[in-house]
Amino acid sequence: MDYSLQEFGSQLDRMRSLGWQLVSLEQALAGNLSGDKNIAITIDDGHRTVYDAVVKVLLPREVPAELFVFPHALGRSLHYLKVGSLKQLMLKGMGVGAHGYYHLLMTPKAWARNPKSVMQEALRPADALLQMTGKSPTLFAYPYGIAAPEAEASVQAAGYLWGFLADGRLRSVDLTDPKLNHFAVPRTIVYRTGLKALFTYLKSAP
Ligand SMILES: [Zn+2]
Repeated sequence: MDYSLQEFGSQLDRMRSLGWQLVSLEQALAGNLSGDKNIAITIDDGHRTVYDAVVKVLLPREVPAELFVFPHALGRSLHYLKVGSLKQLMLKGMGVGAHGYYHLLMTPKAWARNPKSVMQEALRPADALLQMTGKSPTLFAYPYGIAAPEAEASVQAAGYLWGFLADGRLRSVDLTDPKLNHFAVPRTIVYRTGLKALFTYLKSAP
């Protein structure tokens, strides 16, 4: 939502020209990577503009992405992807993960206020996505990128294999690190305001 299609495309091209490989998140999680300069693109929320971003920007460049969606919005709101569009994107090779059910907070405060709601955010998307897409998700991205420890435990108990946080910090993640908490894997959100810092980082990182 923050970039035009042209801007998004040129960002990806720039990453590649700096020597970074654009890999799928599933490939990265399987440890099926070469070298240290790998980026996995993830796109949260399933906004309707994701369809064109995939078809017009990612596919022509053969860049995979993981789409984290919350079932309550799919097909219900004009702002979000229709179920049929999401299925088409899966057929074109995009991964689909869960991003809560209603996109409610799963933070420590949310847990203290209403633990049942946090547990439902973890529990409900898998069945809904299975019914919508025919595939059960194994990856979970916490809405708003923040998770209480109990939320991490709920996501693990719901059968997911990995849970992803998100914030504005630039850092590399070693997914094979035995100390890495698989239910609190950091991701970097790239807003327009953070672009300059991102490319400075990508130029200097090993
Ligand atoms: Zn979100």
